[in-house]
Order: sequence, then structure tokens, then C-alpha cells
Amino acid sequence: MAPSSRSKFETTQAAMSIDVEDWFQVENLKGVIERDTWDEQELRVERNTDRMLELMDQHGVKCTCFILGWVAEKCPELIKRISDAGHEIASHGYGHDLIYNLSHDEFREDMKRGIGIVEDLTGAKIRGYRAPSFSITDWAIDILQELGLTYDSSAFPTVAHDRYGKLAGMDSGKPIVEIRDGFHEVCVSVLKVGKKGVPWAGGGYFRLFPYWMFKRGVKRILNSGMPYVFYIHPWEVDPGQPRVDGLKRSHKFRHYNNLDVCDQRFDNLLSSFTWRPVGEFLDDYLASNS
Ligand SMILES: [Zn+2]
Repeated sequence: MAPSSRSKFETTQAAMSIDVEDWFQVENLKGVIERDTWDEQELRVERNTDRMLELMDQHGVKCTCFILGWVAEKCPELIKRISDAGHEIASHGYGHDLIYNLSHDEFREDMKRGIGIVEDLTGAKIRGYRAPSFSITDWAIDILQELGLTYDSSAFPTVAHDRYGKLAGMDSGKPIVEIRDGFHEVCVSVLKVGKKGVPWAGGGYFRLFPYWMFKRGVKRILNSGMPYVFYIHPWEVDPGQPRVDGLKRSHKFRHYNNLDVCDQRFDNLLSSFTWRPVGEFLDDYLASNS
């Protein structure tokens, strides 16, 4: 019998997602890597995403990939591989600008471009979106709906963060909220610690805490009857990525902390829970709560 720490937590309530972008497109590096130098940077997203696809294949996991249009343009074959492997294809926009730094028209154009490139590659309609650095805002929801999308997964209820956006009408007790008729917000997970909410959904937080503690938090969320939404980026399983100088200390820490253990942790996490794509998880949640 497998030791209990390795046994799988059976649930239909956990969703897995990957924000498919490269190491140099991250907000923490924006101060030192100019947007117009992206073409000159070493492209590592393809091999890193392939590594994650390999791990998910080993564990029989299907996830949602929120794909940056810029990456789809550079690596069309990668997008086809993700789609052919049966993962849900969703959008992360085109240029990874924080939404609240864009005008409404700029955001609409960014989204049209990002969605168009990816849909042309896969032939399938995109329904889901995740905002760069979770910078979701109310007016952006109207544009997402106008473009035919039906869900967003960018909001952390009850968490204050220097970059995260905020949405009106979010009930902190509900993990999935119909914020417009027919359009849902699938919240990214937060762990309640005392009166505070700590983001417990992945990214830097997945690398910050010891793995056993992170996993215990995920179990606590699921045991409370709440669903769980996890996210990760391809560059997080790549300790060999180029290091850049001149970063603020906090940004350097957020980006580089524990990159060398993340591949192993992701492997463990995939084997510890039963994961599903966000769209499928949303449909089942709505069916069982209607
Ligand atoms: Zn991103």
C-alpha cells in the first residue's frame, strides 16, 4: 500500500491551469527587460511547456492552458500539441500588459489578436480568460463577454496585493460567481488564515512555502467544501533560465525563489489530487449547484 502522504485526495473540485508565457514576459522583470527586446530573448517556453505536458500525461491530468497570443505566434506547433493532448485552450491575451494600464480599445484589440491567433491554430472556440498578473477590472469583463467569452479566472477574493485587480459583486463566500448574465468568475484559491486570506493557488506562493505546508493548505480548502483552482507558469520549472541584473530585491525573490524545486513539487501535486480543466470544472459546478 502506498504511504498515506502519497495517496491521492479524491475530489472533483480541483482545477489545474497553466499560464503559457515565457520567462521574460513576467511583470517582475518588466523594469529591466523592455517590451521591444522580447524578440531578442532566448525562447524557453516551448521546452518548459513540453515538460509540463509530459508530467501531466504521466499522471493522466488534463488542465486549462491560458495562452499568450505572442507565444502562440512564435510557437504554433506547441499550441497544437497542447490542444491535441486534450487540454482546454483559453486566452491570456496577446501582449501581457496589465489591464488597468490599457484603454478599453487597446484591451479589446489585444484580446481580439490573442484569441484570433490561438483559435486559428486549434480551430476551437475559446471561452476562458486569465488576466496578466491577475489585473482584472470590471470594464474588461464587458469586453470579454462582447468577444464571446463565458468565464474569467483572475480574481482572488479577499486578498490585497499590489498588482491584483478587483471586481465588483464578488461574494467572498462563493468561489464561482455569475458576474454578468451567462458570464462567470472562477476565483483563484485563497486560504483563510485567521481573518486574512492568503493566496494559495500557485505561482510564487507555491514556491514560497514548504511543499508539505502548501499541500496541507490545499487539503484544508477542499475539506471545507470549497473548490480549488491552481495555476503555474512554464518558466517556474526552469531553474536554468537566464538571470537578469538590476531587479528590485522583492521582484528578484518573487521570480527566482525555489525555481529548482518546482518541477518536483509540480510532479507531486499532480499525483496528490484529481485535477480537471477549469471550463469542465465550472460546468460541473454549475450543474450540481443549479
Ligand atoms: Zn501571465
